[in-house]
Amino acid sequence: MTIHFDRHRRLRGSETLRKLVRENQLTVHDLIYPLFVVEGENIKEEIPSMPGVFHFSLDRLREEIEEIIQLGIEAVILFGVPNHKDETGSQAYAEDGIVQRATYEIKKMKPELLVIADTCLCQYTDHGHCGVVDDGRILNDPSLELLVKTAVSQATAGADMIAPSNMMDGFVTAIRHGLDEAGFTEIPIMSYAVKYASSFYGPFRDAAHSAPQFGDRRTYQMDPANGREALREAASDVKEGADILMVKPAMAYMDIIRQVKDQFDLPVAAYNVSGEYSMIKSASANGWINEESVVLELLTGMKRAGADLILTYHAKDVAKWLKQK
Ligand SMILES: [Zn+2]
Repeated sequence: MTIHFDRHRRLRGSETLRKLVRENQLTVHDLIYPLFVVEGENIKEEIPSMPGVFHFSLDRLREEIEEIIQLGIEAVILFGVPNHKDETGSQAYAEDGIVQRATYEIKKMKPELLVIADTCLCQYTDHGHCGVVDDGRILNDPSLELLVKTAVSQATAGADMIAPSNMMDGFVTAIRHGLDEAGFTEIPIMSYAVKYASSFYGPFRDAAHSAPQFGDRRTYQMDPANGREALREAASDVKEGADILMVKPAMAYMDIIRQVKDQFDLPVAAYNVSGEYSMIKSASANGWINEESVVLELLTGMKRAGADLILTYHAKDVAKWLKQK
């Protein structure tokens, strides 16, 4: 036989060979686990649309933190669900707010665990929007002041990193300025730089009780149809002093993760969101897919797309699976 062709299968002949030439590796060090903290006592309540994810009151947090550490997960991001909501989201920046208290408790318990604070107002406002509302409009600049207050209060409580998610223009520079003035020059900002107005957030709104009470978030979050706009959003955040750029959601936006990675030299984070999680959970509960292999394939895909960090509700399961391998 004289025809010539490339023999790609040579490098796939054994698991050892495949490992030698593997381009991307998912590790437990890539993972950030989101935690939902609530007020009250003795609460560990499963979120119905997110099997395996719970609301924790502060007194039940210890068992979860112990488990996380045991699994080798080194970073968590905190979302607070307060009892009291008002027009200006005052519990977001209250000294004894639920996230501030949780941060303090976790850092006291396990100083080595990296605690990231999500900085937004939507869980704390009675209208459910991420900023100040006037006459049905979400106001940009007045929102910045409240976000700065929130970030500074979170850093004061001991947060290791601030992650603003509200998509107001200028939020990174405002928060950077506020943190610096308060003496937190060493606290990095992981900006939700590219956050789409996505339907994949459905279960999270259940979990965080943060569905907007009127309208939607399309005046501040991005249109899913747009790619180049993502680069403008990210460029602004780079200029404003972001330390890490996040793309959210992940699955339907792999191309955006890649473009952000190629265009900028900051670390890129991908948020594998609640709807992505719930789809896999329900399909695997029905026996339609193999949860472990699908999740590992998906997260490896995010790494291949360019994600350095992955925020994911699968983190605990992934840590277990990786340990067994
Ligand atoms: Zn928000």
